[in-house]
Amino acid sequence: MPDLSNGEKKTKRYLDKNRSLYDLINKVKLWPSRSGVLHGVKTVTRRGNRIDITTHCGEEFTVWDSRNSRSARWLRNRLVKTPCPRCGVPDWKLEKYNSTVFTTFTKKGR
Ligand SMILES: [Zn+2]
Repeated sequence: MPDLSNGEKKTKRYLDKNRSLYDLINKVKLWPSRSGVLHGVKTVTRRGNRIDITTHCGEEFTVWDSRNSRSARWLRNRLVKTPCPRCGVPDWKLEKYNSTVFTTFTKKGR
């Protein structure tokens, strides 16, 4: 185990759960597949209402950019916890994901 004593190892990350799927994936860089495997995302590109995703294990697919989609829900609720062995998702990324709090940010000044 590398020494992570830079004071950041327990820092929680807060993400707005009302963000689009694209924003979520762009931040988290992980993809929960329907088969229950968490892939590492290599590239994510928005094209109108759709998102092109390439995983580190070489899968390419297009999904709808909907925050209510299965994948968005699975990401927010962390329903998929098994990392893809071929993607080689680093531990720090999984840890960051696990310490991410999905919350609703209230708009200020309203
Ligand atoms: Zn993979």
